Amino acid sequence: MSNSTEYAKVLEIGRPPNIKRLFPHSQALLVSGKVVDRAMIARGDAMTMAANGRNAIVIRGVLQAAQRANSTIIIEIARSEGGANAYCPVNFWNMARIVDAMCNEMNITIPVAIHADHYGIKKEEDMVMAKVEIPTIFEAGITSIAVDASHMPDDKNLLANIELNTLIPDWAGLETEVGEIKGTLGLSTVDDASFLIKGLNAHGICADWIALNNGTIHGLESSGQGIQVELTSEIHKALAPYGTSGAQHGTSGNSSERLRAIAKETATTKANVATALQMVAWGVDVNDYGNAILDSDGRLQKVKGEGLTEEMWAEMVAFADAQGWQGGDYKKLNLPFENKISGLAKEIRERMCRRVEEFSYNLLVDVFSAEGSADLGKEAIIAAGSHDLGPKADRIEDPLEWTKEKIIARAAELDTDKGPEGDFDD
Ligand SMILES: [Zn+2]
Repeated sequence: MSNSTEYAKVLEIGRPPNIKRLFPHSQALLVSGKVVDRAMIARGDAMTMAANGRNAIVIRGVLQAAQRANSTIIIEIARSEGGANAYCPVNFWNMARIVDAMCNEMNITIPVAIHADHYGIKKEEDMVMAKVEIPTIFEAGITSIAVDASHMPDDKNLLANIELNTLIPDWAGLETEVGEIKGTLGLSTVDDASFLIKGLNAHGICADWIALNNGTIHGLESSGQGIQVELTSEIHKALAPYGTSGAQHGTSGNSSERLRAIAKETATTKANVATALQMVAWGVDVNDYGNAILDSDGRLQKVKGEGLTEEMWAEMVAFADAQGWQGGDYKKLNLPFENKISGLAKEIRERMCRRVEEFSYNLLVDVFSAEGSADLGKEAIIAAGSHDLGPKADRIEDPLEWTKEKIIARAAELDTDKGPEGDFDD
């Protein structure tokens, strides 16, 4: 689907109302997360990248890679990264503007979803702010959201998802989460995942994606256990009647063959990549899996002549040392250094983008099999005749069996180990 008339039609009908209102004259195809999910389902045995755009260089490099691979793509930012207490310059309220501008500048014509990752509800009091804040992020161009109340017990997780759903446009992509991303601790089960998805279904809510705790962690991967493919496949099979795809978190650090297995053997259509892209952009030495290679003192190693200038890297390391930041905390350098990095010479910024583009292109084409999915996304829009592709499944569950009281009673029956408390955020 390459000719301009068809593209003009897809632009006309495929962009959601908030995007059309914000960018009335844009040539960028910003779409609902549903379009990306459906495109990957149509592609089969494939998933695409949901890139955490922690800085402008990462977003630019990923968009270039996706255009080259003719792949759908998701640009996302987590609440911890780009919410009210952000540690990144890219946030819920400027991400769509940044992506739209870059797509127009670089003539990017693939479907791009703008996803609010880990919209975290850690306790019931968080609901008050969420009810005010969620409408504002859609107003600002978000087209997909991950409601993450997985820090709370199962019944409260489900009830929070149901309550907040009234604030989420029906056309938007919707991800939900069971079991905090905690590595091998408190792995998700068919029971707790089914409880969440069936409860949502009973309330007329069809989540496009579910995120599981299936063995990975956010950030630098050290345990080596990685993704549990069989567990993930078993859970996805149980959820198939509800049309739930998988969202894989913590991909940085998992082997290519493990990621290929996830794309092939499970219903995963979205793979979140955050830390690896940041490290690649900076010129930090990473292994094939995008995991930073630490030296004997546990410090990141910069590749000379790649990514940032050596001077800028030295300044960032000194700044981190002064804050007492190590390894995973380096992510907090994104906000204070964005302007300084924007002021680096063009050829430096271009080599940083190229490194992100190469890394992302290889993942999309050689590991995720996402190549060509852009056309499938555009076809899904044409087939629907609208930006709203609708739910993947009808209501199966009886709402009378999922009243608040019955939800609490059912949850009490669930035998799930949620693992220890602690900060496992992106
Ligand atoms: Zn995550």
